[in-house]
Amino acid sequence: MPHLPARPAMSGPFSAESRLIHAGTERIPGQPATPPLVPASIYVSAGTPRPGRGYGRESNPGWEALEQAIGDLEDAEAVVFASGQAASMALMLALAAGRKQIVLPSDGYYGGRVLADKLRPHGAVGVLEDLQDLPAVERALLAAPSVLWAETPTNPLLRVADLTRLAELAAAAQAPMVVDNTVATGWLQRPLDAGATASLYSLTKAASGHSDVILGAVVSRDPDLLAELRAWRSSGGAIPGPFEAWLALRGLKTLPLRIERQSHSALVIAAHLAGHPGVAAVHYPGINKSTLELAARQMPGGFGPLLSFQLAPGGPDTARAAEQVVQSSRLILPATSFGGVESSWERRGRWAGETAPDGLIRLSVGVEPAADLIADIDAALSTRTTQAEEEL
Ligand code: PLP
Repeated sequence: MPHLPARPAMSGPFSAESRLIHAGTERIPGQPATPPLVPASIYVSAGTPRPGRGYGRESNPGWEALEQAIGDLEDAEAVVFASGQAASMALMLALAAGRKQIVLPSDGYYGGRVLADKLRPHGAVGVLEDLQDLPAVERALLAAPSVLWAETPTNPLLRVADLTRLAELAAAAQAPMVVDNTVATGWLQRPLDAGATASLYSLTKAASGHSDVILGAVVSRDPDLLAELRAWRSSGGAIPGPFEAWLALRGLKTLPLRIERQSHSALVIAAHLAGHPGVAAVHYPGINKSTLELAARQMPGGFGPLLSFQLAPGGPDTARAAEQVVQSSRLILPATSFGGVESSWERRGRWAGETAPDGLIRLSVGVEPAADLIADIDAALSTRTTQAEEEL
């Protein structure tokens, strides 16, 4: 299925931020200023079908507008899917064919590990490595034909890996490198510039930003891979709904504004938590000294909305204590996922398959004023202190 050419949009030497806001808008008198919602399963068509305008599983004008916006963020092209996992599945199936291993981060998003394991009969076997341990990654990549499936910062430990060095190792081993760039988004970090073959996104998170859609995307500059991904999407059917694509594009227009505020607040909150007597460890690229210089180089616009922390010991059961803290907040929403305008948090270890420490709380910082969030966090943490005191 040939890709439709980008529709006429804003032209001129403008910034990525301006291009993002105008993506998909046709500058035609009388046409809507924002790309319309087109809920079409079929298009009027006879004879040889016009590419992408025969059947709704192959294309939708709303996907094209969204793909233009997402792709533009990395000066590349995008293929959108029904979810981040659907995008990962198509990418793993496309890249793992004929290879023996998918080298994944041992501390990354657990859904990636689960998926690699499920796809084992269709291709390569998942091999887990610490992506900060470059000699170990190099050994793994050289052991057998591989795909390197990187993630930085990782979810939920927010560890930062060196994309340029990883890309060099992958190139030396002739392994394509994928980067799950969901946490940072293409606004803060551009993996393709560091040498990645593809960036993977759950658009469900900060990219769409309003906790109202499930959607995913792959971004790449490799025309063969892009064509294969579109073919997987058409034949596998993991297509975005027109309304979800419309919502995601609407949310994406404010990504730079949101992520700037979220990154700023997250940094302030991480520093506050690091000085809190009830907190034993804080994980955030903006305060982790061992990777701070690397993180600032790779994510020059900010460190993103996501952080995690562990409670100081005290009381018998850190998992129960963390649950109590999460359920005590009055502003921050107890919920999973991240990147939305509303702050949310959860004890990450409550999910089967997650390997994060039992008492780890993952906090997604929204766009509420940081002072309100800190007041809410402090009040929730103080309920835990009281309980610990009671138990003494
Ligand atoms: N990648 C990361 C880093 C994620 O956190 C998630 C979901 O939590 C995914 C991929 C999968 O995305 P989705 O839930 O949209 O399928």
